[in-house]
Amino acid sequence: MGRAAKDKRDIYYRKAKEVGFRARSAFKLLQLDEEFKLLEGVNRVVDLCAAPGSWSQVISRQLADRRDQSKIVAVDLQEMAPIEGVTLVQGDITSSVVADKIVQLFDGQKADIVVSDGAPDVTGLHDIDEYVQSQLLLSALNITTVLLRPGGSFVAKIFRGKDVTLLYSQLKIFFPFVTCAKPKSSRNSSIESFIVCKGYCPPAGYIPCLDKPLLDFKYGQDDALLGYNRCIVPFVACGDLSGYDPDTVYALEDESMEESGTSYTTRAPVQAPINPPYKAALDAKRIHSNALSS
Ligand code: SAM
Repeated sequence: MGRAAKDKRDIYYRKAKEVGFRARSAFKLLQLDEEFKLLEGVNRVVDLCAAPGSWSQVISRQLADRRDQSKIVAVDLQEMAPIEGVTLVQGDITSSVVADKIVQLFDGQKADIVVSDGAPDVTGLHDIDEYVQSQLLLSALNITTVLLRPGGSFVAKIFRGKDVTLLYSQLKIFFPFVTCAKPKSSRNSSIESFIVCKGYCPPAGYIPCLDKPLLDFKYGQDDALLGYNRCIVPFVACGDLSGYDPDTVYALEDESMEESGTSYTTRAPVQAPINPPYKAALDAKRIHSNALSS
């Protein structure tokens, strides 16, 4: 799809470029923040799975008035272009080296909030995609237990598949307040939602550790993570519900353009990906077709 066609079919993609965000996902965090006041009064923030960086841009803008006392760390497997007020770490959120690096960047202090918009490369096979996404969410929770202060918040992308109630129960072990939220900018057609967890309070005796998968831990006599019943948490739709609908196609030219006789100009993305994984595939394809035509 060309840029103009994408501008027409994806209003949040178009708006992101207009206001200088690297990705449309920025609006999801803005709408979650509007509903849950996630960034109010926080100083230390970790953005997991952050590339290309639109969530970090939102966080940086919201904390701009306290830049000298705040610290934002963004982590991704992919390389990211610099963002004002954000320290970038390239690495895997399942790695203890990455966790140690973040702790060091915070001078041993804990984060007020950890957010994760992490997503694996989807295959289109729903069961596999849901399973891999749930494992990434648990990995984000695992590193969060190393980084977050008691009482802190955790926000992460979740796929509302058939086993989502088990994930809710697992999150409830660490957070008394768990809500599932669907921002207006997230497509209705997508099973994506966001889990908003507040009041971090790990079980007594819990020792954060990245070397063991979270589900292996046992607390006291119980295997707490496996023994809990599945549970249901509140579901909230957030963002201006009469605002732009991501599943609607909007005309490129608005009334003011028609009146002034001007036409719509397509903008380039705010920040092209640096070394994206698909670049190697495109290069290989180009070399192959050059070889065939020579
Ligand atoms: N929130 C970002 C923004 O607003 O620009 C978009 C994040 S994108 C949907 C999902 C990201 O998760 C990808 O950049 C991917 O590299 C990252 N990711 C997936 N698995 C990861 C892992 N194990 N460690 C670090 N990053 C990971």
